Amino acid sequence: MTDSRGLLFIVSSPSGGGKTTLIKEAMKRLAAFDIQSHFSISHTTRPARPAENDGVDYHFVSREEFESMEVKAQFLEWAEYAGNLYGTSREEVENRLSRGIDVFLDIEVQGANQVKTLVPAVVKIFIYPPSYGVLKERLVQRRQDSPKAIQRRLQWAQREFGVAGEFDYAIINDRLEEAADALTGICLAEHHRSERMKPRLDLIREGFKRNLEEEFSA
Ligand code: ADP
Ligand code: 5GP
Repeated sequence: MTDSRGLLFIVSSPSGGGKTTLIKEAMKRLAAFDIQSHFSISHTTRPARPAENDGVDYHFVSREEFESMEVKAQFLEWAEYAGNLYGTSREEVENRLSRGIDVFLDIEVQGANQVKTLVPAVVKIFIYPPSYGVLKERLVQRRQDSPKAIQRRLQWAQREFGVAGEFDYAIINDRLEEAADALTGICLAEHHRSERMKPRLDLIREGFKRNLEEEFSA
């Protein structure tokens, strides 16, 4: 909309914090502003949950396949989380950004730091659950993880809060509508940064100057 290259957004939160839900909501709302976006599909060695599909929620791969991709530098970033490997395909992200499509990465905090080093313009957003009790309840209600996996994710959340202050934006995912509005608003605001608007603003200024000269030079 405002720039020829798409913008890269990282959305992090503890597992169950609401990243997937909020990104999908924000993408729908951004489409109404003619902003095209893409939700990057990561590769992982984690087994698929009952409701997940290969190539839709993740590319589910073996540890050997993952390591082979890593050796070939096919990941923009990767990290180990709760005993499983997760990585973002460099090609998938670059392909969209170069076509002017925004990309959302749903990744944990170690990966977010790697991307920031490689792509300084990335916008990092951290989603907070309103409380411990609510996060636990959402993980239980999602019915996708065992009690042991839920415990590991809650323990991991505590570590993630430790670095969440380094993110550009924070959203508390209490009421879904408000949190989705906040995420959409952040993305819109980033599109309206002066430097990102420059190509379009230059066109307006040039046209203005031309019209002014045409009208008053005769
Ligand atoms: P993540 O992608 O961060 O792991 P999800 O988007 O899968 O989290 O959300 C975890 C669960 O919480 C899902 O069942 C989702 O429907 C629910 N959820 C997310 N946000 C809210 C909210 N604001 N209010 C109530 N339930 C929510
Ligand atoms: P889950 O197993 O709950 O789907 O994801 C566990 C964690 O891994 C979440 O915090 C999620 O954001 C993160 N994650 C998912 N894909 C990637 C990825 O490609 N890279 C990194 N670094 N983290 C990821």
